[in-house]
Amino acid sequence: MLKKINKELLSNITVLYVEDETMIREEVSFFFKKYIKNFYCATNGLEGIKLFNEVNPDIIITDIQMPKMNGLDMIKELNTNVPVIITTAYSDIEYFLKAIELKVQKFVIKPLDLIELVSSIQDCIITNNLQDKFFEKESLLKIINENVLLSIADKNGTIIDVSSAFCDFTGFSKGELVGQKHNLLKHEDTSDEFYKNMWQTILSGKIFESEIKNKKRNGEAYIANLTISPVFKDGEIVSFTTITQDITSKKRLEQLTIEDDLTKLYNRRHFNTVLEAEIKRIRREKSFLSFLIVDIDYFKKFNDMYGHPKGDQILKNVANILKKCVNRPTDYIFRLGGEEFGVLFSGLDIEQSMDFSKRIVEAIYEEQIEHLGNEIHGVITISAGLLVHSYHYIEDDEKVYKYSDDALYEAKHAGKNRVVLSKKSK
Ligand code: GH3
Ligand code: MG
Ligand code: MG
Repeated sequence: MLKKINKELLSNITVLYVEDETMIREEVSFFFKKYIKNFYCATNGLEGIKLFNEVNPDIIITDIQMPKMNGLDMIKELNTNVPVIITTAYSDIEYFLKAIELKVQKFVIKPLDLIELVSSIQDCIITNNLQDKFFEKESLLKIINENVLLSIADKNGTIIDVSSAFCDFTGFSKGELVGQKHNLLKHEDTSDEFYKNMWQTILSGKIFESEIKNKKRNGEAYIANLTISPVFKDGEIVSFTTITQDITSKKRLEQLTIEDDLTKLYNRRHFNTVLEAEIKRIRREKSFLSFLIVDIDYFKKFNDMYGHPKGDQILKNVANILKKCVNRPTDYIFRLGGEEFGVLFSGLDIEQSMDFSKRIVEAIYEEQIEHLGNEIHGVITISAGLLVHSYHYIEDDEKVYKYSDDALYEAKHAGKNRVVLSKKSK
């Protein structure tokens, strides 16, 4: 992120910074004390609360994991409207979810990029205090120009003006943007449907708010919250103002909370969420629910014979083969743990689901990945347990899991490399 340090803005604010690690705290304070007169540090949540009441800060920056009281408990306890920026490591995922509940405005990932942190502070201060307090009218325009990702288009969508922050962020110069349409920034993953929808909304005079995936001049993708507002003159739309809020790092964190690190499949946590939602949807649509649990055969032996890193590679291979086998938008694949995967699908009756599951087991076998510890086949194989329920027979998520897991157990005992249908299927 490339944003200018706004000395005038920073010199007027009071910051409370809470961090238990001395090295980080000193580095950050050293940097900020050059710009911010009122920069206060605390070393844990309890100290943070005490200082908060003494100095009445305009913004709080806090670490999550700290002794005595952690950052999130502190925020909860403070229960304040003062904006909060969380500095966090990718490993703090559990906490991250709670932070979202506490409506934390921004996340800055450790190791800290100080310029990114400054720009987050400036963003928060500006959005929270646009009314006045800090700025005169003239300096407000300057601050917006330098800090808000703003673009203005005429009623045909041709860009007529952009803020310098927007240029810095996207990497385009003003000259390159003005006269062009916003689709200069279009990312391949963003559908034409999205734009159609957007035009429909704004041409009808409504404000359009949505998440979008775009790309910068250098091709780098970013995720942003867009707010496009029509501007009226004498009752007619004359232009559109777009405010872009970069949420790429937040999205990245969200992604990490649902994704398995190794295989990039959905993880167990997301499985719980999706299964619950799918059960509801399938009941509503009076459809079939199918759940297949997959477990690699003799996998412990594979690790013993070929080593753990090769074992990891197998997990990735199996994940990729599974991905190739499923292709409906309502098919989901999960890594449920270790060498166990789940495939959740719907709309197929018992026979169709069995056929689909058999094809998955065969697809793994047909890949012919050497595994001499697999006494029968000499290649990687999987066993699987399948449960199929027509909507009115679905009990609950735990039962769905249990019935297919029992069937998996039977598949193992019946000789592996096969799928067994749960007797509970109906
Ligand atoms: P079965 O055919 O009955 O399924 O036997 P198995 O050896 O596959 O099953 P078991 O549950 O005894 O062992 C599972 C093994 O999976 C144990 C562990 O070494 C391995 N494993 C679990 N997670 C990982 C992982 O992330 N990477 C690697 N390489 N191995 C893993
Ligand atoms: Mg196994
Ligand atoms: Mg296992």
